[in-house]
Amino acid sequence: MRARDSDNGGSGVVRPRRRDVLGYALGLGLGAATLPALALSVARPGRAQDPQTAIGERFMRIGTGSPAGYYFPIGGMIANAISRPPGSRPCEKGGSCGVPGLIAVAQSTGGSVDNIRGLSAGTLDLALCQADIAYWARSGTAVFADTGPMPGLYALARLYDEKAHLVVRADSDLHTVEDLRGHRVALGEEGSGTLVDARLLLAAHGLDESDLEPVYDKPGPAADLLVAGEIDAFFFIGSAPVTVVSDLAEAIPIRLLTLDGETYARMSGDHPYLSASQIPGGLYDGVPTPVDTLSVGAVLVTTEALNDETAYGITRALWHPNNRGLLETIGAGNKLAAAMAPHGTGIPLHSGARRYYLEAGYLP
Ligand code: GLU
Repeated sequence: MRARDSDNGGSGVVRPRRRDVLGYALGLGLGAATLPALALSVARPGRAQDPQTAIGERFMRIGTGSPAGYYFPIGGMIANAISRPPGSRPCEKGGSCGVPGLIAVAQSTGGSVDNIRGLSAGTLDLALCQADIAYWARSGTAVFADTGPMPGLYALARLYDEKAHLVVRADSDLHTVEDLRGHRVALGEEGSGTLVDARLLLAAHGLDESDLEPVYDKPGPAADLLVAGEIDAFFFIGSAPVTVVSDLAEAIPIRLLTLDGETYARMSGDHPYLSASQIPGGLYDGVPTPVDTLSVGAVLVTTEALNDETAYGITRALWHPNNRGLLETIGAGNKLAAAMAPHGTGIPLHSGARRYYLEAGYLP
């Protein structure tokens, strides 16, 4: 088993395809260590603006998630789609079609909750976030009851659906959520939306963390632990197929536990942003039939600190036809659709984003 360093992109069962994707993401949008320096060097107040520049030169940080999930590569693609550094070739001549003057970078984080904290602290400007987490953050409820409401939190787009994966070895004697009692289970890393929903899932089945041996790890290291026999199950909420789960299924026989209608019925009352869905059969090696599960929207969020013009520009750039190919280089990118983007966000749309969807005919 390889070292459990999730920053290398995840588990010891990583295939070349995964490396290609991450390499691309890192090369394009994610030179987090170097890009800030570059960006700061161009963000000189009072400097004459590029004639194409609508907002002036500006640097923005996009909070994503673990490198082994989808937020990280999708965030890198979004960073590229919305950026147009000063001096870029014009969009209509095949250049960058982002917001003039904007340089965005995607940063690895713990996930949805961490991203909300980053937006609140002003260390992030945009972020990916589960719709349920965004709702609770804005209303100051559930996991955000202690921090209070965040009325300045707004959505730019709902991107795609994320599905709950509860993964065990195929020969495991675990078949239901209740069976997890007394077992070693990776629930998700601190700061992730995965961990929040894992706790809710346990509670809906009369369990809490003290009833099992919880592990708080990212999906990549969790998959390694399952291979090594050091945990019995792990939980992750992400766009299916989750690359780490695909890689794992190629390495060892796996099963996905069913989160059926009964689970949905128990959770949906307190959890309006969950829907009942399925992980299609054949998506993962050794999992030939569909598996009932729960899903939640992945949303691109920001705060009122983003002005109307820039929010409009970012939303328009995100859905610019010339950026379509870029977004589709990532699996989940194929699912992105402007027509569904203004709906199911969990929180209100930013006024600039709303203006874009109205003008583009995606809102009546
Ligand atoms: N939904 C997950 C979370 O907030 C992250 C999913 C991903 O990285 O693709 O914990």
